Order: sequence, then structure tokens, then C-alpha cells
Amino acid sequence: MKNKVTKIGVLSSGGDSPGMNAAIRAVVRTALYNGIEVCAIMKGYTGMVEDDIVPMDSRSVANIIQRGGTILKTSRCLEFFEPEGRKKAYENLKKHGINGLVIIGGDGSFRGAQIFSNEYDIPCIGLPGTIDKDIAGTDFTIGFDTAVNTAVEAIDKIRDTAEAHDRLFIIEVMGRDAGYIALHSGISTGAENILIPERKTVIEDIITQLAEKERRQKLVNIIVVAEGDEFGGAEEVAKVVRERLPLMEIRVCILGHIQRGGSPSCMDRVLASRMGYHAVECLVEGRHNVFVGIVNNKMNYTPLNEAVKKKQRISDEWMKIVKILAS
Ligand code: ADP
Repeated sequence: MKNKVTKIGVLSSGGDSPGMNAAIRAVVRTALYNGIEVCAIMKGYTGMVEDDIVPMDSRSVANIIQRGGTILKTSRCLEFFEPEGRKKAYENLKKHGINGLVIIGGDGSFRGAQIFSNEYDIPCIGLPGTIDKDIAGTDFTIGFDTAVNTAVEAIDKIRDTAEAHDRLFIIEVMGRDAGYIALHSGISTGAENILIPERKTVIEDIITQLAEKERRQKLVNIIVVAEGDEFGGAEEVAKVVRERLPLMEIRVCILGHIQRGGSPSCMDRVLASRMGYHAVECLVEGRHNVFVGIVNNKMNYTPLNEAVKKKQRISDEWMKIVKILAS
């Protein structure tokens, strides 16, 4: 029989993503509803190691559902990689009487949680908070929808300029290891080409296509590049295209951190609220050391140790759609 969870800590860790606040709110209020006390662990695992832990009540999460970022702050904590750091973290949790954790973060944060829960008897529940949507076991992650909509809004604006001047715009979006922001924002803005880390980029094919479109006088050309594309970012792609097609007017735009911030979309708020609720339900029901995902609009629970190993794959069909629709 597993010990009953009576007091939980909630933290956000790794890269922030819009909707983390909505998740924190859901965790706090669901826990309180179940008679479980809640503490905020500040700055990710750093707060655990340095004992930056404060009690929360229902009012602590008032007026945050619409805010981007995370009221708990976040960090990358080097000490947590070391057994001594994790021991300190455990001792601090014990001191506060915390016997359950909800960790909102990406796969790195889940890896930390998995190692910690193997070493110490503190059940951990993960919530996937990352704009990259690069965690297997969930169709969506908290923050992806907002980030991709921010990218779409920006690309639509760039398209107006691209059209006014007959220019090729090469736009770099976030995604060091995953091309989902590029793929979704590219498809929904009618990009000619989308370059992502999951697929090999054949620059010759892109040059051939652009040259052919130049002949046909296709006016607006947009290429969306994920920052982690193996060929390099947007600047690298532009350099080669300039060399090969010197008459083409080319501009590069790197969207950068605007994609991380801002008020979360309705979809992210709802997702975060559902996931936060289910994280606490997991702790109550004794379903431990899993992360909460959403698959086919149903909650899905993946053991933390599996979540950290897998990456999603992007099927050929997606790329076919890009090609056909941009012709
Ligand atoms: P994300 O969660 O966004 O993927 P990171 O990969 O930076 O972000 O991980 C966030 C934090 O999780 C790290 O700074 C570290 O404190 C903790 N962490 C990640 N991997 C491990 C690991 N192998 N062992 C212990 N802690 C880890």
C-alpha cells in the first residue's frame, strides 16, 4: 500500500512555455479540493536544492491563467545532476513534509524526476510543458499551440511584405531538436518549403524548386526553417540560395523568443487545466512516476522512464502535403 500523499510541491523546470501558469493553478486548486496542502518550489529544481519553498493557497494562483511565463520561475539546475544535490533536495522536501511532486517541464526535467524518484520515495508526476511538442506519449504539450500561433501571426505579417516586394523570405522558428513549430506554422502559412531537424535537407532540391518558381513568377516565397535543421539555421540556407540564385531578393527573419512568451491560447489553457487536474488525481490514486499526456483527446499516462527515451517521428505524409499545397 502506497503512502497517502498529504502535501505536494509544484515546480516548473527547464524552458518556460505559455500555459505553465494555467497548469500551476489547476494543480494547486485540485490539490486543495482534495484536502492536500501545496507548496511552490521556486526556480525549478534549484528551489528544491536551495530550500526556496513556500506554501500556497487558492489565492496564490488567482489571476494567472491568462499569463505567459511561470509565476514559479524556472531554471536549469546543475546541482540536481549530482547525487549530493538531489540528496539536499530530498532533505528539504522532508523538512517541509512534502510527499509528492508535480513537475512541469520538458524531457530533461522528466529525466531529473525519474532519477530522483528512483533514489527517493517521493512520487513524481510530470506535465509536459514545452513549446517544442517533442515528447512521445502526448499529442500536444502545454505551450505548443500558443507558440505556433505566435509564429503564424508573425509569418502572415512577413508575407504581406514578401508579396509587396516579390521577395523570398527565409524565416527561422524555434525548435532545436524538433520541427513541429516549423511544420505547423509552415503549413498554415503556405510555406514553399519547411526544413526540420527530423528530415534530411537536400539543398539542391530547394534551389531547383525556387529556380522553377522564379521562372513561373510565383510571387510570394516563404521558407520556414527550424533552428535545429541539420543544414543550419535560416542564415545558412540564405547564404547558399544567394550564391546559387543571385537575382533573387532574399530576406532572413529569425523569430526568436517572441515564440515563447505571451498569453496562452484557449487550447493551451484548457490542456493545462485538464493536465493539472489529472496530475493531482494520479497522486491521489497512487498512480506514481508517470507523466500526463493527451492522446486522442483522452488523458494518457506514460511512465517517466519511457517518456525520456522517445522522440516523435514526422511521417512522409506531412512533407507530401507541404509539397502539394505549395505548388
Ligand atoms: P527541459 O525540461 O525543458 O527539457 P532541461 O533539459 O534543461 O530542460 O532540464 C531541466 C532540468 O532538469 C536540468 O537543469 C536539471 O536540473 C534537471 N535534469 C535534466 N536531466 C537530468 C538528469 N539526467 N539528471 C538529473 N537532473 C536532470
